[in-house]
Amino acid sequence: MRGRSFSPKDSFVEAYLGPEPCALGPSAAGSSTPYPRVSWQDLSIVNRQSEQTMDYRAPQTDMRFVLHEVLKVADHYQQFGMDDPPGEDLINAVVEEGAKFCEQVLLPLNRSGDEEGCHIEDGVVTTPKGFKDAFDQFVENGWSGLTSPTEFGGQGLPESVGVAIKEMIDSCNLSWGCYPLLSHGASEALKHHGEPWQREAFLRPIVEGRWTGTMCLTEPHSGSDLGLLRTKAEPQADGSYAITGTKIFITGGEQDLSENIVHLVLARISDAPSGTKGISMFVVPKFKVDQQGAMGERNEVSCGSIEHKMGLKASATCVMNFDGAQGWLIGPPNKGLNCMFTMMNTARLAVGIQGLGLIEITYQNALAYAKDRLQMRSLSGPKYPDKPADPIIVHPDIRRMLLTQRAFAEGGRVLSFEAALLVDTSERHADAEVRAEADAQLGILTPIIKALLTEMAVECTYHGVQTLGGHGYIAEWGQEQLARDARITTIYEGTTQIQALDLLGRKVMGGKGQALGTLIEKVTANCSAAEAHEPLKAAAARMQETAADWAALTQEVAKRAMADADEVGAAAVDYLFLSGYILVGDALLRSALVAQQAHIDAKLRDGKQALLNFYVDRILPRVGQHAASIRAGGKSLTALPESMFDAA
Ligand SMILES: Cc1cc2nc3c(=O)[nH]c(=O)nc-3n(C[C@H](O)[C@H](O)[C@H](O)COP(=O)(O)OP(=O)(O)OC[C@H]3O[C@@H](n4cnc5c(N)ncnc54)[C@H](O)[C@@H]3O)c2cc1C
Repeated sequence: MRGRSFSPKDSFVEAYLGPEPCALGPSAAGSSTPYPRVSWQDLSIVNRQSEQTMDYRAPQTDMRFVLHEVLKVADHYQQFGMDDPPGEDLINAVVEEGAKFCEQVLLPLNRSGDEEGCHIEDGVVTTPKGFKDAFDQFVENGWSGLTSPTEFGGQGLPESVGVAIKEMIDSCNLSWGCYPLLSHGASEALKHHGEPWQREAFLRPIVEGRWTGTMCLTEPHSGSDLGLLRTKAEPQADGSYAITGTKIFITGGEQDLSENIVHLVLARISDAPSGTKGISMFVVPKFKVDQQGAMGERNEVSCGSIEHKMGLKASATCVMNFDGAQGWLIGPPNKGLNCMFTMMNTARLAVGIQGLGLIEITYQNALAYAKDRLQMRSLSGPKYPDKPADPIIVHPDIRRMLLTQRAFAEGGRVLSFEAALLVDTSERHADAEVRAEADAQLGILTPIIKALLTEMAVECTYHGVQTLGGHGYIAEWGQEQLARDARITTIYEGTTQIQALDLLGRKVMGGKGQALGTLIEKVTANCSAAEAHEPLKAAAARMQETAADWAALTQEVAKRAMADADEVGAAAVDYLFLSGYILVGDALLRSALVAQQAHIDAKLRDGKQALLNFYVDRILPRVGQHAASIRAGGKSLTALPESMFDAA
């Protein structure tokens, strides 16, 4: 390993020397060296059906291709002024070890966690069997602080390394991954807005994995519209606030994984203005914490109940009651929404990556099945005459579903890893102008990644179910769980509709089209560069043609919106999909272009080229449909009176 050392790796190396490789489920095929301390057969919850786990092998080759060839992350790190920037070898080692943890520890708990779910008794919530042990291993091996600042005990690695680990976690166990996801969001908010004592007291234990974080926004009457929230914060003589109110749907609000839970709560200080201008952010721990960081008695915060859900059953979704709980203001009064946006942006990208993880695993599982399952003959004559029927992968529509999944996995990976690199650049680059530019690009990419990759996860997991036919619909093969789990990702952290309004209203029109202009220029330049390569010429020209309309269409919407603001709402979701499909096309085009280099493996090069051709032929035309809907305007939606919605 080149350059610096990496402490999780050190403990992994130690673990390699352990005498007994653990017996593993089918996922063990994914990595040659077993991950330590796995004994999932011991779990009493594992029954005959649960032993049927999914096929998943971490896509390390593609991850390395994206990180090192497409994005060249290590070159970027050289400009971050890091003492010892991570090189390719270290990054690969981290990804490899992360893959082992995910394949061998988290994946075997996915099915059993779904079956068992979370339970509550007298306000105490228990996560499914094996979850706590997996969390302990995660913490012991340093994963909880992988990308957190070294001054608070983290590893200080860039987000663009951490993103690969996130994707694998989300493929293997979406529910389990929610617990560290929210902790990461809370640490970001504390890092950026906490006072020094608050960072010491709350951030450090979260980074160390002893405590976890939550995000408490939603109330029964206040979801997308946070301006309606009512939770109160009364100033106390000691400088703290008494927090009173009810929050619903709080992920990890109560659980048995960590010693303490740090709730970041939005509330109104007495006499604060109404609406979003009167919201402040508070840190409210489950067990009180003094300014020296010492943990004390139980705070007045409790879990009233947990939700019974369509999917994501192993993630505890809690009703949280705050009854005069001790809380501390984070950031300036009435600026809570700004502070929370730091956390929400991190979390929004993270939810986009949940979509990516689901797309990858549904593809792998569906592909394995499609190669194996023999049904009917190919229309153009038997492809496997020695077998009683052909494997279903010969049928064109099965291929369409598989390639759709693969295109969004590989294109989505470039997009979301690039967004993580923009996070790094916006925080670490030495040049302030470069930081600001990265931040603007990130602003526009975040809602697209969040909404598009989650919507595609819903589509792709359904393709996965369809590929398996009736077997996709029954529990045994795991596909139906993926489809159920995927459904929430388009809703939480701001629904697709809210992301679309953020993109079109705030980021594009609010930013006077500047960041969008930069993005369009980049896409255009990429198309021109690819057109110079004969094998990519036709696809690049089609991409160029499609992207050429993007700016004009944006101007048309902006003009219509001046006359009628509802036109923004009518166009927004179509506009988000249109932008997203162009960007995924751009990502696949860039990948195919980079893969033209002589040192790239021929199979990888051919695969990238074939995927691009498929995408341009079969997915990119969706852009035209969205453009037509946008150009039709919003009148057919807005002009009719509400009474017309009632049946005649
Ligand atoms: C499993 C789960 C976990 C969650 N975890 C957390 C958590 O940890 N912390 C937390 O604070 N919250 C959490 N939530 C809440 C989640 O963020 C909200 O459910 C979500 O923001 C939507 O709010 P709502 O459910 O009140 O829907 P509403 O806001 O009532 O929306 C209903 C519908 O109206 C649409 N809509 C609303 N306004 C507009 C508009 N202006 N234009 C177009 N359409 C619009 C929405 O898109 C949606 O389709 C979680 C929810 C679930 C189910």
